[in-house]
Amino acid sequence: MPAVKGQLLDKYNLSGPRYTSYPTALQLGEFEPALLVQKCHDSEAGALSLYLHVPFCHSLCYYCGCNKIITRQTHKAEAYLGYLMREISERSQMFTAKAVTQIHFGGGTPTYLSDEQFTRLMAHIRQAFRVKDDAEISVEIDPRQMALHRVPHLYQLGFNRLSIGVQDFNQQVQQAVNRVQDESHIYALVKRAREVGFASVSLDLIYGLPHQTPQSFAETVDKVLQIRPDRLSVFNYAHMPDKFAAQRRIDENALPDSAARTAIFAKASAMLCAQGYLCIGMDHFALQDDELAKAQRDGCLHRNFQGYTTQGECDLLGLGVSAISQINGLIVQNEKDLKSYYRAMDNAGQATAKGYVLSDDDKLRAEVIKQLICHFRLSFASIEQTFNIRFDQYFNPELQRLKQMVTDGLLVMSDKGIKVTETGRGLIRAICMQFDRYLPLSRQQAFSRII
Ligand code: SF4
Repeated sequence: MPAVKGQLLDKYNLSGPRYTSYPTALQLGEFEPALLVQKCHDSEAGALSLYLHVPFCHSLCYYCGCNKIITRQTHKAEAYLGYLMREISERSQMFTAKAVTQIHFGGGTPTYLSDEQFTRLMAHIRQAFRVKDDAEISVEIDPRQMALHRVPHLYQLGFNRLSIGVQDFNQQVQQAVNRVQDESHIYALVKRAREVGFASVSLDLIYGLPHQTPQSFAETVDKVLQIRPDRLSVFNYAHMPDKFAAQRRIDENALPDSAARTAIFAKASAMLCAQGYLCIGMDHFALQDDELAKAQRDGCLHRNFQGYTTQGECDLLGLGVSAISQINGLIVQNEKDLKSYYRAMDNAGQATAKGYVLSDDDKLRAEVIKQLICHFRLSFASIEQTFNIRFDQYFNPELQRLKQMVTDGLLVMSDKGIKVTETGRGLIRAICMQFDRYLPLSRQQAFSRII
């Protein structure tokens, strides 16, 4: 992916959503919990994906924008587990007809849970839901808190995908974000995971952190290439100190500017692609035979709250504090604060705090945005057939706005559809924003800058 040139950066580097959903979670509001039951009942999705949120972390990474609780009081995890298992028992009754094909543990730090707690939790999930034998079961790992002997234990419990948070191998960067980790331990974790049989190992990197340069990040990418993970995410750091208090500890003077950030990503991307990785969407890379790469080739890549996924036709059930579900045209989020989550579970046996029902227009725009952000192209005919509209009439104002992007070399447009150019890929969020009905300029403050 070539670097976006200065003038285009200035013009299009606004703040905007990452479109893990459309509409975004900002639209969520008052909602009647009984509607969730109805939507689940009526859902025609053939399978179910579970997301479980474990909010605890041992220490604070200064770049963090996640919903987490920093604590060394490990007994808190036991109390949380009790509530989570109760929520699983309650919610599973709504999904008796559906097989679970995907389970993902995110956080926070899921491996804050002990081996014994994971054993109990997985047994409970398998008892409550019909988990398919070949289900993808993945967990995000903080390598600082993950002893090698835990890897085979997770595998025995059915986990088959590991995602390891690396962010950057550079020591100065690690110190600046308060996440210093032992490089050799990361190598050992990946080696152990492969020895015991994990089907996929993924590494997470972040660019735009303090002290990063194209050269320093290239050294990190070099090390990543030695590990050769099946997948790699290279996220753009969103510096929003007004929104995330932890980020106020980051020295803003040490942050790379937009031009440096785009150069960092362009160099990293070129290095990865030269070594056989395919660029998946806007911030993921995968080896050619990885499921994500195959899904992109087959035109069935999806995007949900966990990012790019192969299983978009599933209902997504989020469990735990702040977890988000996407079910049959409904988006709902659990209480974001732990006390409120516990209180809601105690009082009502469920913890949804807010929700949103997609209108027909939302569904149509969600599909347009998904096609663009997953495949960098859009066929007008396929949208017209699915939604029974005339694309050029329905989206006349949007198509007019896109003309400037065509002139700027971000898109090629014909009467058949839209194709995003190599340059446009770096600004895909700006392109998708043209189809976002909810994005007056005032709202853009709520989102991170595109680059
Ligand atoms: S980045 Fe991850 S490990 Fe660090 S504080 Fe945030 S959730 Fe916890």
